[in-house]
Amino acid sequence: MKPARFEYAAPDSVEEVLGLLGEESRVLAGGQSLVPMLNLRIARPARVVDVNRVRELGRLRRDGGSLWIGATVRQAALERSPVVARHWPLLAQAVRHVGHAAVRSRGTVAGSVAHADPRAELPVALTALGARYHLRSARGGRVVRELLLGPLTTAIAEDELLTAIEVPPLPAGACTAFAEYARTHGSFADAGVAVVRARGHAAIAILGTGSHPLRATAAEAALRDGADEREAAELAAAALEHPHRRALVAALAREVLAAAAPASGDSRPADGAPGASPRPARPEPGA
Ligand SMILES: Cc1cc2nc3c(=O)[nH]c(=O)nc-3n(C[C@H](O)[C@H](O)[C@H](O)COP(=O)(O)OP(=O)(O)OC[C@H]3O[C@@H](n4cnc5c(N)ncnc54)[C@H](O)[C@@H]3O)c2cc1C
Repeated sequence: MKPARFEYAAPDSVEEVLGLLGEESRVLAGGQSLVPMLNLRIARPARVVDVNRVRELGRLRRDGGSLWIGATVRQAALERSPVVARHWPLLAQAVRHVGHAAVRSRGTVAGSVAHADPRAELPVALTALGARYHLRSARGGRVVRELLLGPLTTAIAEDELLTAIEVPPLPAGACTAFAEYARTHGSFADAGVAVVRARGHAAIAILGTGSHPLRATAAEAALRDGADEREAAELAAAALEHPHRRALVAALAREVLAAAAPASGDSRPADGAPGASPRPARPEPGA
């Protein structure tokens, strides 16, 4: 099928983009999800606003200790970045599970978040990392933590652009891991778990709820109180109703919690500063 008629605009500045966004318009980033939706006429916007010519949206940089991912930064850029591999290995661990190389070379990180597919990997990793989302519209700007609200549903208003994703630094000595179950290589995952562990810190995000990524707060608290990986994994999976996905998440959570265990073997607060363990984060081979 071919898309319904729409007006195409490709401005050079954020201000021009914001002036064009509103009811009946859609942002075009990598096009890996939007173009099929246009072709199938699932989406029928009156105007498509291509943001790829706006240079400032293409920046991937480390600033003030945080990682800033602009709206047109490709998923492949995360995969190749030595800064990401060194300081945010969870993103490098997760991104290689997204589709195939061709998809990652066009698809953007922000587009994956804005599209909010319940089975997408990057939103889960960003949830475990406590990312903040910078939104702008002609009305002004705001920063949101709870951006993902449900399947294909976010807090982004029709006239807003997700300009950047800010990822805070990992706690000192943190270890991270990501694992998923997908039926075939490169396909969307049925279940997945992203984890960040350091002394005094545990963050676990779950893919497999059928909705947006979930933080396993009970499991995180249990780990900080000295629970072992098996107990924490069962708690992390308990929120899932579907028995098959619950079993998958429990198994994956055990795996990633063990892989990211802090040097001391627990996540209880250290006596000194948080994250006192000197053990570096461990990127997977090839990151
Ligand atoms: C064959 C194939 C396999 C795939 N496999 C996977 C997979 O295994 N895992 C996975 O996670 N994904 C997978 N994807 C999806 C891929 O990751 C997409 O790139 C991603 O979902 C959307 O990113 P995009 O840059 O292409 O966004 P687009 O397709 O351009 O846009 C997607 C949606 O987000 C909106 N949007 C985009 N950017 C912004 C912004 N900055 N502000 C506001 N709204 C915005 C658009 O308006 C649109 O509604 C696959 C895609 C294909 C084609």
